[in-house]
Amino acid sequence: MTVAPVASHRLAGREHDLFLISPQVGRGLVVWSPAGARLRHALEEFWREVHQAHGYDVVMTPHLGRADLWGDSRQLDFHRETMFPEFEVEGAPYVVKGANCPLHMQVFRSRTRSHRDLPVRLAEISTLYRQAPAGSLKGLRYTRTISQDDSHIFCREQDVVEEIVRYFDLVRRLLHAFGFEDLRPYLGTRDERSVPGDELWERATGHLLTGLREAGLEYRHAPGGATYYAPRVGIDVVDAAGTAWPLPDLQVDYHLPRLCGVEYTGADGRRTHPVVLHRTLLGSVERFVAALLEHHGPAGLPGWLKPVHVRVLPVREEDETTARALTDSLRLDGVRVALDDRRAGLGPRGAKARADGVPLVVAVGRDEARTGRYHARHLDGRTADVDYPALVEMARRTAARPDPALGAVRPLHASAPTP
Ligand SMILES: [Zn+2]
Repeated sequence: MTVAPVASHRLAGREHDLFLISPQVGRGLVVWSPAGARLRHALEEFWREVHQAHGYDVVMTPHLGRADLWGDSRQLDFHRETMFPEFEVEGAPYVVKGANCPLHMQVFRSRTRSHRDLPVRLAEISTLYRQAPAGSLKGLRYTRTISQDDSHIFCREQDVVEEIVRYFDLVRRLLHAFGFEDLRPYLGTRDERSVPGDELWERATGHLLTGLREAGLEYRHAPGGATYYAPRVGIDVVDAAGTAWPLPDLQVDYHLPRLCGVEYTGADGRRTHPVVLHRTLLGSVERFVAALLEHHGPAGLPGWLKPVHVRVLPVREEDETTARALTDSLRLDGVRVALDDRRAGLGPRGAKARADGVPLVVAVGRDEARTGRYHARHLDGRTADVDYPALVEMARRTAARPDPALGAVRPLHASAPTP
């Protein structure tokens, strides 16, 4: 029997204690349990390293702010129904953010920029809050907390296509690192609800089409699938069970920079609006984790994403002190470790560790306490008798993240100057 796709990540969330969504907290609001938070941290640390390697600057912005900020970008006109109600702070209306765009534009505007500063690539994983209808909420796939890995690339018009191609390349490399290969792009174009401006819409759409062609991507058309301010290329990522997950998303925007007064000084000395690429790679962390869980199964996640790398099992009740000391020591050495001291036989506890996909299991008994050597069992059945430093090294190898360069060709180093 196969588990229905949407049910399966929720089931994994419960069985592996990764996250909870409860009526006591509120519909669609995700709470991450310790194991889920560890998975999320590993994912986000890698995300930061990748962005650092690929020319982005990471920023951090608040989750609420003055309503005018989102008013200028017209988000309040177009998305009021999905924003949580306004509230008042010191006599001024405030909102909880449903988008980061105006905040990143504030970062850009915080200093005078010239064409030599561009492109400016700002990135952030920040939680957005959208009051999606209760009927649409589905586990981590559709939530009201959307931890979006959001970026805004401010660039000159002549650099837009190059940035688009770089983005598609990064999407392919990054998703490959997570084990996803089946990517299905679509081009979302405007409809009558979009902001006016035929010529700017055509230019933006033309850049996306050129970028798709230069990147060699096939795509389908999604008329009306644009945002209110920009055409987009969304990418459905298809998992092992054939479920499509709308994850990466790219928008080429001429309108918000004008609405929000975003400018730089061009080579001719004149103030000019940059083009802004709004883009996400993962979509939302919530949805991406759901897709990972359904693609790999919780026990089959890549090692570096696993919430626990070593599970320590005391053989008998009297071995608990030694087992606890080993657990604490591994924790101090930065290993994601857990102790299983349940009153159950070693066999069932070992089987549970294997079913959970824990990469290394160490049973601690009388000998380990006496000799300081450990019998470690890999998930694939291999065993090793090792001392403590070797055990730490094995755990670290399991946790090693992929290279954040993602296989991109490195620029040549200039040769060292001769004295
Ligand atoms: Zn944006």
